[in-house]
Amino acid sequence: MKRIVVTGGAGFLGSHLCRQLLDEGNEVLCVDNYYTGRRSNLVDLLSNPLFEIQRHDVCFPLYIEADEIYNLACPASPIHYQFDPVQTTKTSVHGAINMLGLAKRIKAKIFQASTSEVYGDPEVHPQPESYWGNVNPKGLRSCYDEGKRCAETLFFDYHRQHQLIIKVARIFNTYGPRMHPNDGRVVSNFIVQALQGEPITVYGKGTQTRSFCYVDDMINAFIKLMDTRDDFTGPVNLGNPDEFTILELAEKVIKLTRSKSKIVFNPLPHDDPTQRQPDIKLAKKKLNWTPKVKLEDGLKETIKYFRELI
Ligand code: NAD
Ligand code: UDP
Ligand code: UDP
Repeated sequence: MKRIVVTGGAGFLGSHLCRQLLDEGNEVLCVDNYYTGRRSNLVDLLSNPLFEIQRHDVCFPLYIEADEIYNLACPASPIHYQFDPVQTTKTSVHGAINMLGLAKRIKAKIFQASTSEVYGDPEVHPQPESYWGNVNPKGLRSCYDEGKRCAETLFFDYHRQHQLIIKVARIFNTYGPRMHPNDGRVVSNFIVQALQGEPITVYGKGTQTRSFCYVDDMINAFIKLMDTRDDFTGPVNLGNPDEFTILELAEKVIKLTRSKSKIVFNPLPHDDPTQRQPDIKLAKKKLNWTPKVKLEDGLKETIKYFRELI
């Protein structure tokens, strides 16, 4: 049995990760300030004696003991990370420093939830880990993109300077049950709108692309990455390479929900990346992992969740 800390454990990905780690027989401490996360994501775990929650903001030091740390704390939806952009950068950067300082003191392995946003609006397609990206340092998305890039820098400097065992995952768009209904990300927005018979809000012309990974596949990859040899640091892309336009996604959601909702076209947000698809050769080789869940199947599960919730 390992003692594992999950920061951001009350959020979408974090709550799935806590559940999976507990299922595997570990002791789990969820650390979260509930900025975008919810206790309701964890209700079924509260009676488990191996599970504990600590309300804490990772921008402040944390003194605990553990064998492994998964650092997921950070708002992930553009609406939420742009609401208080200074706080977003602080969470990524001060949060990384504190969790790395903690990992250094207690000699724990540490995982960082980085993002495909480190590639910005990519000019190389699909994106391999060797691509340095095309990021605007002063735009509306920069608080998140540059915060996550700086966090990667800190992880690699703690690795080089203090010999920390680090695991850096560059996560591409992930969806599934327990996304917040007002999260603002495209999959949850479209499903909630379709189920409520509201217009489906496509931003721009809907020709921009994304590659959507189902949450169960992603959580398997996190745990496999943590379990790689100590000398494997990443960064490693994690995502499903099947690429769709946003318009195609809207049409799929309408079909699967049998909704009467109509598509409306709203303005495209600033610096919205035009295309995104992970090159996952490295993940295949090092983790022996490929995503298994097709978009339609994952959407059906997610629709079922939102149908019960709404
Ligand atoms: P989420 O918003 O559901 O979860 C983030 C969690 O972090 C929430 O529970 C929130 O309350 C907590 N949090 C935020 N600031 C905090 C702070 N200062 N101290 C403690 N807790 C704090 O988002 P998610 O989709 O679960 O994303 C989890 C991680 O994965 C994030 O770091 C995100 O950047 C990364 N990521 C997610 C995706 C995706 O598609 N879901 C893609 C790329 C990267
Ligand atoms: N830290 C923490 N928990 C610990 C150890 C450190 O939160 O158990 C934080 C502390 O705020 C510190 C930061 O991590 O400032 C970085 O730690 P490090 O040892 O790298 O540097 P320091 O600032 O202590 O010189
Ligand atoms: N998007 C959209 N309608 C919505 C929400 C998002 O058309 O209601 C678009 C958004 O402009 C982007 C894509 O869907 O091109 C993915 O957006 P999301 O916020 O989910 O994540 P991103 O990949 O941009 O961080």
